[in-house]
Amino acid sequence: MIKFLDLEKITNSHKTEIDDAVKRAVDSGWYLQGKENEKFEKEYAEFIGTDYAVGVANGLDALIWIFRAYVEMGVMKPGDEVIVPANTYIASILAITENNLVPVLVEPDINTYQIDPEKIEEAITPRTKAILIVHLYGQNAYTDKIGEICKRYNLKLVEDNAQAHGCYASDGRRTGCLGDAAGHSFYPGKNLGALGDGGAVTTNDPELARTVRSLANYGSSKKYVFKYKGRNSRLDEIQAAVLSAKLKHLDEDNQRRKDVARRYIEGIKNPAIILPKVTDWNSHVFHIFPIRTEKRDELQKFLADNGVQTLIHYPIPPHKQECYREWNNRSYPITEQIHAEELSLPISPVITDAEVDDIIKLMNSFMD
Ligand SMILES: *Cc1c(COP(=O)(O)O)cnc(C)c1O
Repeated sequence: MIKFLDLEKITNSHKTEIDDAVKRAVDSGWYLQGKENEKFEKEYAEFIGTDYAVGVANGLDALIWIFRAYVEMGVMKPGDEVIVPANTYIASILAITENNLVPVLVEPDINTYQIDPEKIEEAITPRTKAILIVHLYGQNAYTDKIGEICKRYNLKLVEDNAQAHGCYASDGRRTGCLGDAAGHSFYPGKNLGALGDGGAVTTNDPELARTVRSLANYGSSKKYVFKYKGRNSRLDEIQAAVLSAKLKHLDEDNQRRKDVARRYIEGIKNPAIILPKVTDWNSHVFHIFPIRTEKRDELQKFLADNGVQTLIHYPIPPHKQECYREWNNRSYPITEQIHAEELSLPISPVITDAEVDDIIKLMNSFMD
């Protein structure tokens, strides 16, 4: 069987360095807010290209803390609006509503699956304070037009970089340093994954970095002095050590994902299947390899019957979820089409060419 994602094999591909990192953290006798966090934050900020990186407990919290910090800093207040793609993982939207801000859903471009820059301006109102772009599936969502809109309307640009560590925008900067702040997830299955939960906020804004760090530490930057009603949302030392070890290999791991993606794109020739359209190979790190077909459920079953695991990202769009029942009657046709047609093929740094070729053969024989 070809697994959708073989996490054990991914860990084993950097086993010695991960084991050394875990041992170093364990042997240090210091498990939170120590040298490993300091080291990883410095390395990650440098990697992304920002002045600051702040380790937090997970990717959802990273996004929550960015908006909460803007509320604490007086930049936003409850009821203000944040523009966000309608076809994202639910966490992007939860981070907005968690802060009593109002998500304004904008349809994606059917060719890129990223927020459609042409549809942003019509969604702006006097209450709009930010745009949250999501580099979905590992592909850069930033465009110059989005940057210009943010400037013209004085909006904060926040990036959800949970799926795109190591990706570049067309100007050669990495995603995660393109806007005012970015949230990153180190969930084990992400391109840079910990051995448990982890996340980070990157920014060039010292006040934002300070506020996020404080919020994620009970609202305190001085022991027993509490400025905000914060929470405990810290990255632990063992995860930080593991992430330092894996960060060294991220670019090469992403390169392998791209090689796999290229092999799929060159090999799959089936008129029933729509492949990802790649215009710039630097601006995609293929967290997901998304294809589309009207026969999605049949294809998924056909692949499963032939020993290939696939997933759907995502089966139910946010506006059809029970937690957002107030939106259930709304219609976002492009978003709904993607959710009805998308299928994610196995892709990772450890999948073999032989496995990819087997999948290509199956894809080409589907419906023959
Ligand atoms: C994974 C993910 C998150 C949340 O990250 P966690 O670490 O799982 O909390 C947020 N946004 C997107 C787009 C994601 O894929």
